[in-house]
Amino acid sequence: MSHIAFIGLGNMGAPMALNLINAGYQVTVFDLSRAAVGKLSEAGAIAAADAQVATADADIVISMLPASSHVEALYLGEQGILPGIRDGALLIDCSTIAPQSSRKVAQAASARGLAMIDAPVSGGTAGAAAGTLTFIVGGDAAALDRSRPVLAAMGKNIFHAGGNGAGQTAKICNNMMLGILMAGTAEALALGVANDLDPKVLSDIMSKSSGRNWALELYNPYPGVMENVPAARGYSGGFGVDLMLKDLGLAAEAALSARAAIPLGELARNLYSLHSQAGAGALDFSSIQQLLAPDKP
Ligand code: NAD
Repeated sequence: MSHIAFIGLGNMGAPMALNLINAGYQVTVFDLSRAAVGKLSEAGAIAAADAQVATADADIVISMLPASSHVEALYLGEQGILPGIRDGALLIDCSTIAPQSSRKVAQAASARGLAMIDAPVSGGTAGAAAGTLTFIVGGDAAALDRSRPVLAAMGKNIFHAGGNGAGQTAKICNNMMLGILMAGTAEALALGVANDLDPKVLSDIMSKSSGRNWALELYNPYPGVMENVPAARGYSGGFGVDLMLKDLGLAAEAALSARAAIPLGELARNLYSLHSQAGAGALDFSSIQQLLAPDKP
């Protein structure tokens, strides 16, 4: 079975790497956080001292890092891994980054004779833990076909959006929608509570009405409505406000370059920006509820 190197063991990367171990792959891991590496090695991964060591013998390299700058530094930086990766290896970047960054790294990989796909994911930390992620892939069909078995060990839906970078573009559109839906859901719940409705009763009503959506039904932002979501644990874990802000910034860049209008996406970006500036950047993005009903949640 292929030897996998997994770089980036945060809220998403750790459960994804764990599913690969559980599927029987030999997995070597690296993260800047020693604690994150320690947890995975306790679960059966091989711990590496740095990214170059982790990837030198790998058949498949998977990265799950915060943003474009981290991905470009990992593959192309001074200590970058691209020169040391073995011939014939397959590179899969699951981070959500700018499409032009994905294309830049994939072109450099291609110049070295290595196939690379962008495979950002949807489904959140619960989907990562359950192995039910959706992969949104950009790259050529042959590289995607080689990736299918390993993606199937971490997710259940695999879409081919187009060439390198297209996976990122589709993911950015999805997350702009998610950011808008979460802010809208929080606003509706705050309005109901301000008018003496129980947020759980209101959520039940909207879940069976035309306002139903993923944020309301699976990731409810109002504390006390659902268990096992970030709102039930002080908005810890999950998908950080600053990561949502990054994705809405990517949407704004995509809109500028295509002269597209995204009025709601821009409004959402400004709401998350205000929320981040108020000190909530590291909280889960559903904490936007605090901005919209500050005295209640
Ligand atoms: P996170 O901040 O929890 O984890 C990122 C990890 O990368 C951290 O453990 C950090 O130490 C590590 N890291 C940073 N630079 C590194 C480097 N140079 N070498 C090794 N490790 C390094 O982020 P996350 O929530 O896991 O998200 C990762 C990516 O997935 C982001 O692009 C995010 O937008 C995307 N995403 C997140 C979610 C979610 O629900 N959290 C869902 C879908 C997509």
